[in-house]
Amino acid sequence: MNNPSQPSQPLLIFDMDGVLVDVTESYRETIARTVRDFTGRTISRESIQEYKNAGGWNDDWQLSHHLVHAAGVGAAFEEVKAHFQTLFRGVNGTPGLMLRERWIARPGILEKLSLRFRFALFTGREKEEAQLTLDRFARGLVFDPVVGMHEVENHKPAPDGLLRILRAFPDSAAYYIGDTVDDARAARAAAVPFIGIAASDNPLHAGLVALFQSEGARAMLADINYLPEVFGQ
Ligand SMILES: [Mg+2]
Repeated sequence: MNNPSQPSQPLLIFDMDGVLVDVTESYRETIARTVRDFTGRTISRESIQEYKNAGGWNDDWQLSHHLVHAAGVGAAFEEVKAHFQTLFRGVNGTPGLMLRERWIARPGILEKLSLRFRFALFTGREKEEAQLTLDRFARGLVFDPVVGMHEVENHKPAPDGLLRILRAFPDSAAYYIGDTVDDARAARAAAVPFIGIAASDNPLHAGLVALFQSEGARAMLADINYLPEVFGQ
């Protein structure tokens, strides 16, 4: 558990998707199915990752809408978003793809880190959706604050969410742990050391590692289970 009596505890600020949670079969699958349902076309995981590596496509609703348009189907953003949410959250007893999320941390890893660090979350998700996942997988761990898409004026790669967290803990050292170039850019803009997660099964792994290097990543890991080693634990 985090210890609130130590306000200057260093902060580990986590991105959620691709860092705490494997979303290959949830968000990424929802993007692919949304595009398929509107256009009849199949989009590869590699194509989706190319957009993520290019930066500026942190919002999966916007990316889905863009892909639908790129295939020549003029659906409105709200229509694409609504269908995406139906697939992701489920409807009328049909389970949503969000249930395919997988918690990445092995038992004990985050618990150990929480003895030394305060945890915070800065995600492009809606806060409520992030909280659902934390409640499902991370009971007993405290992530505070949780900054989601509606808590910031400008989204990643803008540093707003990180700056908001840092303002609450001005005396604390902080690290941001993310899995996209937008995360790395947000960290750099906030002058927070960045730890990049580049999963070995990422379809564009080498490109992502190069991007993290060019953004000055402090460390690069295959997944968060290696975090204690970064901090000598
Ligand atoms: Mg992510």
